Amino acid sequence: MNTNGERPQVLLRFCDTYHVPTVRTIIRDGLQQLKIRPFGRTLLKPNLVSSGNLFDHAYTRSEFTEGVLLALRDVNDGRMTELAVGERSGITIPTRYAFRGAGYDEMLRRLKVKRYCFDEEQQVEYVLQHAGRLRDYIFIPEVVTKTDCFINCPKFKAHPWTTVTFSMKNYIGLQDDRHRLIDHDQHLNQKVADLQYVIQPKFIAADAIIAGQGRMLTPLPYDLKLIIMGNNQVAFDAVCCQIIGISPLSVEHIRLAYERGFGPIDLSQIDVTGAVSLEQASELGRNFRSGLIRVEDYFRDTNIKTYAGIPGENEACDYCWGGCPGALEEAIEILRQFDEETDHKMPPLHLVFGAYKGPIDARPGEKVIFIGNCADWQGTIAGESVVIKRLPSTRAKKDPYYAAHSDIYQKMVSVTFRLLQSKKKIICVCQDVR
Ligand code: SF4
Repeated sequence: MNTNGERPQVLLRFCDTYHVPTVRTIIRDGLQQLKIRPFGRTLLKPNLVSSGNLFDHAYTRSEFTEGVLLALRDVNDGRMTELAVGERSGITIPTRYAFRGAGYDEMLRRLKVKRYCFDEEQQVEYVLQHAGRLRDYIFIPEVVTKTDCFINCPKFKAHPWTTVTFSMKNYIGLQDDRHRLIDHDQHLNQKVADLQYVIQPKFIAADAIIAGQGRMLTPLPYDLKLIIMGNNQVAFDAVCCQIIGISPLSVEHIRLAYERGFGPIDLSQIDVTGAVSLEQASELGRNFRSGLIRVEDYFRDTNIKTYAGIPGENEACDYCWGGCPGALEEAIEILRQFDEETDHKMPPLHLVFGAYKGPIDARPGEKVIFIGNCADWQGTIAGESVVIKRLPSTRAKKDPYYAAHSDIYQKMVSVTFRLLQSKKKIICVCQDVR
């Protein structure tokens, strides 16, 4: 049930165009069907993790957001005091450039809609009290705490570290880089689930017209031809999972939010309506590529050979899904945008993450790099005895109050470049490279 006691609803509508009036009409119909009218300070959050030519299918398209903004105005009954769009993009680019690269600036000016770059806003402490939380407090932009009516507009995408990024995962863009990077490691799904306590959307509309599959920053286009709307985030994400044929329980942040009472995942408790049935939507999503991709599989058949072990001594998980391995994948993916043969052309390279136990098949002269504080290995490489000891984790000591600016992708790209240029054959990047 939603907080108003009603069953959560998810609306599925066919849409194969980014024609703004078409999107506007569909969204307005959805808002009316769900009986949602904006009120007070209304803040729309798109997904602008990256934008521009290299990242065509990574972000919520400006035409889509324009349609949503116009539809919100269409159903406004005079209670809306501000209509704004806010985001913190990913990678190292300031959010104002992500807005520009995604074509939002001209549109927001034309519509006279305010823009909030969360990395330029005042950050305030937000106390968490629920059982199982990662931290007692986190920091979020003040403007989010002052929002009355939150509208979530994710891009429908696969995510190789969290399986998918739909509505809930879009919350990672609420935090500026300093605070986003805290727990952006094997705890990433828990972090996303904790962020759900900050605010819940009154309305969700996903840009699933051209979805992004396979990758996160540089996804491949998938013509899903859908606009998906809803009024409960867990129910919404659960239906999105059904569309691409995966269990919502297999996505940790959805499971956690469900277990914490944010909404149902069982279809019998969700009203799925709209002009497209769930069966028809599932048919459209039948070939969508998603799923967790371990770094060993990601670089299979390239000149990069990877080896991954458990990230922490007392960790339940055997792989760091939200940290160094994934960041390296995305860094190489960006390099591939400039030269798609990048990792085929480079000399053979061996990358080791976590406490890896097996052999490392490096030939004499090939580079071996141990990445991150948690790297731990003992053995022989090209006849040389090597011992790498895990360094103490810095995670528990990270205090959101003193979080320093840092960027996961910038760091990874610069580390990758540095390592490739290094003349040493065995290298240990003994720092938390997140
Ligand atoms: S240092 Fe280890 S635990 Fe930390 S992000 Fe990197 S792989 Fe994950």
